[in-house]
Amino acid sequence: MIASSVPATPYLEDASGYRGEAEQAFAPSDVQQLREIVLAASAKKIPLTIAGAGTGLTGARVPHGGWIVSMERFRRLEVQSGMAICGAAVSLQELQHAANKAAQFFGPNPTEYSASIGGVVATNAGGARGFRFGSVRGHVLSLEVTFMDGRTIRFRRGERVDFPIRSIRRPTTTKNSAGYFLEPGVEWVDLLAGSEGTLGILTEAELQLLPIPPAILGGIVFFPTDEDALNAVDDWRVVPALRLLEYLDGPSLDLLRPMQPDIPVKAQAALLIEQDLESQNDEEVDCWVERLAEHHAFENESWFGFSAAERDRFAEFRHTLPAMIVDRVRRNGWPKFGSDFAVPINRSRDLLAYYRRRGDDLLPGQYVIFGHIGDANVHVNLLPSTAAQAKLGEELMTDFARYAVSLGGTVAAEHGIGKTKVDLLKLMYSESEIEAMRDVKRHLDPDCLLGRGTIFAA
Ligand SMILES: Cc1cc2nc3c(=O)[nH]c(=O)nc-3n(C[C@H](O)[C@H](O)[C@H](O)COP(=O)(O)OP(=O)(O)OC[C@H]3O[C@@H](n4cnc5c(N)ncnc54)[C@H](O)[C@@H]3O)c2cc1C
Repeated sequence: MIASSVPATPYLEDASGYRGEAEQAFAPSDVQQLREIVLAASAKKIPLTIAGAGTGLTGARVPHGGWIVSMERFRRLEVQSGMAICGAAVSLQELQHAANKAAQFFGPNPTEYSASIGGVVATNAGGARGFRFGSVRGHVLSLEVTFMDGRTIRFRRGERVDFPIRSIRRPTTTKNSAGYFLEPGVEWVDLLAGSEGTLGILTEAELQLLPIPPAILGGIVFFPTDEDALNAVDDWRVVPALRLLEYLDGPSLDLLRPMQPDIPVKAQAALLIEQDLESQNDEEVDCWVERLAEHHAFENESWFGFSAAERDRFAEFRHTLPAMIVDRVRRNGWPKFGSDFAVPINRSRDLLAYYRRRGDDLLPGQYVIFGHIGDANVHVNLLPSTAAQAKLGEELMTDFARYAVSLGGTVAAEHGIGKTKVDLLKLMYSESEIEAMRDVKRHLDPDCLLGRGTIFAA
């Protein structure tokens, strides 16, 4: 009899709307209890699916049978100078809040604050500040992991895997969360981050924290045309100490208008920015007047602020959009048609133009584009309203993926492959590269029990 059994129902879907089923669920409160579950599952050959906060967008934490292990009781949180020790269940919000109290912050900022540390490490999440700080993987100092043979090991940065690994090509994008990070002698931390709960169970992570800069300018800049906004993106990439560059197209603004009446009536696109400064009197502040004028932005109707409350308001403005889409998807019953493709920076406009051309052909007026334009990782979200349109949406997503790969891009920049994007992995990697990933999987989880159906078809 295993302790810590809990009802399975809350873990049978994630934010993508993908649904599954399970025989039993457990919420162990320590490594010892986790070990009992793992050993029992191994002995009986029962698949285990690891659940974080369920904000994932690829069905990765959704089981198809077997047992669920929810990590919700691993709640240790300790902030030190330059780093935080986080149990798997600590949320991003809790981490940022605790770090802020010590005048520090966690660089990457996957925008869904209720996501768990276990989840953001397991998916190698990115987010709005990836433009400056990269994805989560690069900020992991150590990971404590339980493997399917019951061993729990803490791996520190610098410790390399002790078994042969074949390398696979990596896209020339700034972010990638498609499949395992494989190269000979890869560090354990880099292999496990982004492995989507298929190689081991992350129980605790030490994450790097950075000092909060003396001042931060936040803003939402509105533009009369999309072209003006895209020209600004090209120029603003090199603005010193810019740490965020996010995009919302006209239809995205239209979705937000009922809740945000002060969006300028004539705005057809917006960019969110954040810039680190030496002080609020930094001469960089004045440069924005010129920058806005140069790109015909609405100078008086754009929003700027220095306070954390203002930045939170701007972030909330941006975050409301994916949250609305997730909500709409849940209500209308179609799967979520949201892309997570990224391309090399110099192909960003090609990808956007392609989304528009194909979207206007097949689903005119029924898609929005927004997201991490600083990383050439904007999300196109299709909003079909009939079954026939949903079918078109499915085809369109595969078409977009093919195009992104043809530009040297990735099919998953920050959300992972999960279960809903398994077929897309094959567009990006050769059979032999996927086999190299399977070799690693077999080495660490010989019966393929962990996260079955995620990354690799069941
Ligand atoms: C509105 C909205 C906005 C979002 N914006 C962003 C964004 O900007 N950037 C971004 O990167 N993502 C974003 N996401 C996606 C999501 O927040 C991330 O994928 C996040 O990393 C998932 O964390 P989670 O705790 O919810 O994990 P879950 O959804 O529970 O699980 C995700 C995967 O991680 C594995 N996992 C979870 N915990 C562990 C563990 N302890 N050990 C091993 N494996 C584990 C699961 O098995 C599964 O494979 C957004 C989601 C929503 C709903």
